[in-house]
Amino acid sequence: MESWVQVDANSDFSIYNIPFGIFKQNGRVRAGSAIGNYVIDLDQLHKRNYLDSFELPEGFFESDTLNEFINQGKEVTNALRVKIIELFSKESGELQDNKSDIESILIPMSEVEMLMPVDVPNYTDFYSSIEHATNVGTMFRDPDNALFPNWKHLPVGYHGRSSSIVVSGTPIKRPKGQTKAPDADNPTFGPTQRLDFELEMAFIVGKETILGESVSTKDTEDYIFGFVLFNDWSARDIQVWEYVPLGPFLAKNFGSSVSPWIVTLEALEQFRVETPKQDPQVLPYLQIEGKKNFDINLQVGIIPENSEEQIVSNSNFKYMYWNVNQQLAHHTVNGCNIEIGDMYASGTISGPTEDSYGSMLELAWKGTKPIKMKDGSERKFINDGDTVVMRGYAEKEGMRVGFGEVRSLILPSD
Ligand code: CA
Repeated sequence: MESWVQVDANSDFSIYNIPFGIFKQNGRVRAGSAIGNYVIDLDQLHKRNYLDSFELPEGFFESDTLNEFINQGKEVTNALRVKIIELFSKESGELQDNKSDIESILIPMSEVEMLMPVDVPNYTDFYSSIEHATNVGTMFRDPDNALFPNWKHLPVGYHGRSSSIVVSGTPIKRPKGQTKAPDADNPTFGPTQRLDFELEMAFIVGKETILGESVSTKDTEDYIFGFVLFNDWSARDIQVWEYVPLGPFLAKNFGSSVSPWIVTLEALEQFRVETPKQDPQVLPYLQIEGKKNFDINLQVGIIPENSEEQIVSNSNFKYMYWNVNQQLAHHTVNGCNIEIGDMYASGTISGPTEDSYGSMLELAWKGTKPIKMKDGSERKFINDGDTVVMRGYAEKEGMRVGFGEVRSLILPSD
């Protein structure tokens, strides 16, 4: 399949992708898709009668979130994506032959600002990478007994904070908080000295449930609209002091950054892979059939102020021990209701090798192995003025489906 729009071989936004997002151009906000280096203005596509078969209300895409679009259900959103693919494929002349319409519908990405794609009612963060959980357990507890007894029996998670989820490009201010050095008698207050990223992916809920209802692993994919890259900012020194006994709090809720384009579950269909073998066998409500992991290359780079980018990690979403189906089934097994736009983050995605870890905590191994930047400086954690960039894409047999990037500049504390 090829598009009549020029799409570079290394573009994340091939005709196989067709993600959804919210953008602003000339002060106007609306929903869009993407192909090559262009945003597809869905509002224009609608107004110029290319989407008439969908019977959507007038001005439907003049929205500052995708929630109402997602709420139409996969029957509509999938069909719309298929229609866009058709309109942009070489074989179709419907739009290709209407040069005057094309000018209004295709907008160079450089001319738009991408906004938060959804209003996020709820955010949950899991802890589903066995490599990450093992690394953290090894560092802070017992190398021979790194995982807690529950870890292989359920996807461990906690409820995060949705109000501080921001889109790529939003600067993050170094948080202040309470910390205590291991040998100190009392805690002190000030800017975190151990600001860290966490390389994660999040799925976005596309269908709600009512309180008391559970979703079986057989049906979970009906409830998943798509995925974004997710940087779960963390303050390690605040975390280690505050987390006992109820878990993460202020070390985690000062900001999480997401990529602006939601890549649909359907666009990732070709990139399914087997899940890692789970031993011991999980309880029946967590059992799954078929390929439930996704082969998505992930990368993290750090750009120090006035310097060039240093890639610090190459990981992959396929390493996840617990998959999204198990996460959602577990989340709802007690009747907890889910809402459209909810984000469920994977937890830090670390691979098996030292250069595939998903956080500075692991990459620099608790500060014992600093990482060299291109300008000669070293990093144990993230400095003020650093920009952290995460990228992700899947590729197979000439098909590439990517997420673009999530990029955040770190500002000093006030
Ligand atoms: Ca996390």
